[in-house]
Amino acid sequence: MVRYVYDFTEGGRDMAGLLGGKGANLAEMTRLGLPVPPGFTVTTEACRAFLDSGGEPEGMWREVSDRLTALERAAGRLLGQPDGPLLLSVRSGARFSMPGMMETILDIGLNDESVLGLAKVSGNERFAWDSYRRLVQMFGSTVMGVDSAHFEREIAVLKETRGVQDDVHLTAGDLAGLVDTFKELIRDETGETFPQSPAEQLRRAVLAVFASWNGERARLYRRREHIADDLGTAVNVQRMVFGNLGADSGSGVAFTRDPATGRPGLYGDYLPDAQGEDVVAGIRNAVPLTELQRLDPGSYDRLRAHMQTLEGHYRDLCDIEFTIEHGTLWMLQTRVGKRTAEAAFAIAAELADEGTITQDEALVRVSGEQLARLMFPRFDADATGEPLAHGVPASPGAAVGAAVFDSAEAVRRATAGEKVVLVRQETTPDDLPGMIAAQAVLTSRGGKTSHAAVVARGMGKVCVCGAEALSVDTGARRFTTPDGTVVEEGTVLSVDGSAGAVYQGPVPLADSAVIRFLENGTRDENAAGTVDAVAGALARADSVRRLEVRANADTPEDAARARRFGAQGIGLCRTEHMFLGERRKLVEEMILAGSDTERDRALAALLPLQRQDFAGILEAMDGLPVTIRLLDPPLHEFLPDRTDLAVRIAAAEARGEVPAPHDVELLAAVNRMHEENPMLGLRGVRLGLLVPGLVAMQVRAVGEAVVERTRAGGAPRAEIMVPLVGDVRELRIVGEEVRRVLAEVSERSGVAVSCPVGTMIELPRAALTAGRIAGEAEFFSFGTNDLTQTTWGFSRDDVEAEFFSAYLDKGVFPTSPFETLDREGVGRLVEIAVTEGRAARPDLKIGVCGEHGGDPDSVHFFHATGLDYVSCSPFRVPVARLEAGRAALEGTDASDSR
Ligand code: PEP
Ligand code: MG
Repeated sequence: MVRYVYDFTEGGRDMAGLLGGKGANLAEMTRLGLPVPPGFTVTTEACRAFLDSGGEPEGMWREVSDRLTALERAAGRLLGQPDGPLLLSVRSGARFSMPGMMETILDIGLNDESVLGLAKVSGNERFAWDSYRRLVQMFGSTVMGVDSAHFEREIAVLKETRGVQDDVHLTAGDLAGLVDTFKELIRDETGETFPQSPAEQLRRAVLAVFASWNGERARLYRRREHIADDLGTAVNVQRMVFGNLGADSGSGVAFTRDPATGRPGLYGDYLPDAQGEDVVAGIRNAVPLTELQRLDPGSYDRLRAHMQTLEGHYRDLCDIEFTIEHGTLWMLQTRVGKRTAEAAFAIAAELADEGTITQDEALVRVSGEQLARLMFPRFDADATGEPLAHGVPASPGAAVGAAVFDSAEAVRRATAGEKVVLVRQETTPDDLPGMIAAQAVLTSRGGKTSHAAVVARGMGKVCVCGAEALSVDTGARRFTTPDGTVVEEGTVLSVDGSAGAVYQGPVPLADSAVIRFLENGTRDENAAGTVDAVAGALARADSVRRLEVRANADTPEDAARARRFGAQGIGLCRTEHMFLGERRKLVEEMILAGSDTERDRALAALLPLQRQDFAGILEAMDGLPVTIRLLDPPLHEFLPDRTDLAVRIAAAEARGEVPAPHDVELLAAVNRMHEENPMLGLRGVRLGLLVPGLVAMQVRAVGEAVVERTRAGGAPRAEIMVPLVGDVRELRIVGEEVRRVLAEVSERSGVAVSCPVGTMIELPRAALTAGRIAGEAEFFSFGTNDLTQTTWGFSRDDVEAEFFSAYLDKGVFPTSPFETLDREGVGRLVEIAVTEGRAARPDLKIGVCGEHGGDPDSVHFFHATGLDYVSCSPFRVPVARLEAGRAALEGTDASDSR
């Protein structure tokens, strides 16, 4: 038979799934012999049964009644007994903490008779009526569904009539009158009377807490925090203790360490003569815990001892809620406490140093997400006001600068020493100089894998994209917010890339000591603890991880930085950025070439430039693998914009002039090459098959760079990667050309050049035919950006800003599949490709170079799937190292120990 109710003496911390976090920990404290007011927990299973059927689960009430009888017997009093009642609190408590999201009902058991008994036994009439008033109010709104604003209004009217500011100045008589008013209000609003039967109060309160699991607030919170909707909440029924019985009573919250910094020592707040709810509501100012030491040294000492017991037992920072009733200390709640990223690292390191936990456990207790938070400069949290706009938090960190609306202006101002924020509707490769010059990038279109986002993350640059509420007018050099605020060029903006918020005016910044340490080993004295803790966790991760970590980098500077951050090579060197700027002219010539000779001339001019690019990167990564990807984007991306050209030509014609022949020629080419779906068009390996000489030029540049580096005494390890392959024959044709050119370079130079040739797996067809493709490929690298795009049929440049927020709200997925790998769909393709690829070629090296390579959850998946490496932007390398280490410990004692 299913059992729905557990006494606090029967549960324990390992039962959080059934008893909720609060119930499990109350039981654990009870077992430890700490002073917990007695009570019992109605399980999450009962809640689920209630939510499924809409009615009270069979047999639940009998169990509750039995437990209640036991409670009454132990207390020597009955629930709601007229001459000194036992009173109960009814509180929600889910598996994962959802602070304030569900309901609580206190003082169950009070009615028109027992309120008089309570007044007598407490000797405090005002207290008794105030408790009854709270019950009628909470029960009326939570259980009976009366809008809580009605109650608040009645309180406000009464205070005004009495000419008082504060609730505390209302007398016992006032409060008794208020109880009558509330009861009338309930009758008017619901046609029902406030139930006088304590048992009915209890029964309905429990069910109301169950129902609050599906309240709007709770649902919204779960969606944001990625908590499953089907867990349900437990309900804790507990004997009331009172902190509002005078100067020798009070309530407080306490932490065993400082949750902001991790420093050991008792931290917290205490509010004399108050209930716990008053502390949280901030009605009166609480005092620091040290004040309790003065007010009630006995309780303070007991509290300190209990907290020591808890930290020793949980082997972690604990937070608690407590109440002192007439000098007796009661523990009302504990849990392993929430903390800042800084505190998380500091506490884990310290507990490991003390020998309380192992180094592996310390590693499991921190996360890549926390590390990422420590790596970016942050806005001083106290200094932000109301944001101008929200967008997609595409690349974390905080930056301040003057708004500029095009790349040239960004470069101009930055060269003059000004800090700027580049604001665009969306960015294109053309904006790259401006993006480099800017402190931050803000766009009104595009999502986390839009051009702006990918490039900004690669550079470690702050980026908020898809701020759709902003209407950006680059021509007029301004944007307008929905409330009509016009922001002109030059206005200072503060961009929070971690939160996706934009503020007008400068918000002060706090620098990252962790980045300074990773960049050049500097150890800031005032952040030494954090820096050492991060270094320790990374060292441990490196010693246990199986996954290698490479970086996506396409300049020698990025490569060098990635190496300092611990990258073990380059997993993706995108070559398209090398075709921009002054080289664009040569690319144009190549595209417009009317003859083989013209094309060869353009390619020949590009060759030495490419060779130089590759030599620089190979030097920065000397001795480590560098995967160079052949050109991927459609060629028309390197030509001017179609509309701009058309306008230029039309304007010349309107002036009666002959349009520039070059413009006419370019427009014809752009029109010829126009595609409705360029992402599915002539790009990737298809370019290699259709544009004569392109592959040969790029491969020759790689080969000659290898020769150059070898002659200079280096150890270059270039790998050549072919993008967007869908069929083995595509790879075979290009692969043959690659090998032919490399053989030629070897022969001419006398230096043996051999580069592994592999492919990206970024189309479902490639994944499904991976066994055949592995026959031609020496390595695979999953391009999970395109693989997600093509598996879901989501345009990666559009959907995130367009409708992903609606999809997230509707619960289609908990996070964007462009951010965290969709294990069920895309992940399945990855698994198939790994299995079939390795079956065909057992020594096949397999990595991933899509954005997911730096995403903590996805890193765990790639570890479990047996990949050899992940590759991500340089700034995410430390995060990936940490998570790869944590992934290796998954399922071991270290990760099960809490
Ligand atoms: C990918 O598709 O995952 C990838 C790494 O290539 P790109 O983002 O350049 O298309
Ligand atoms: Mg791709």
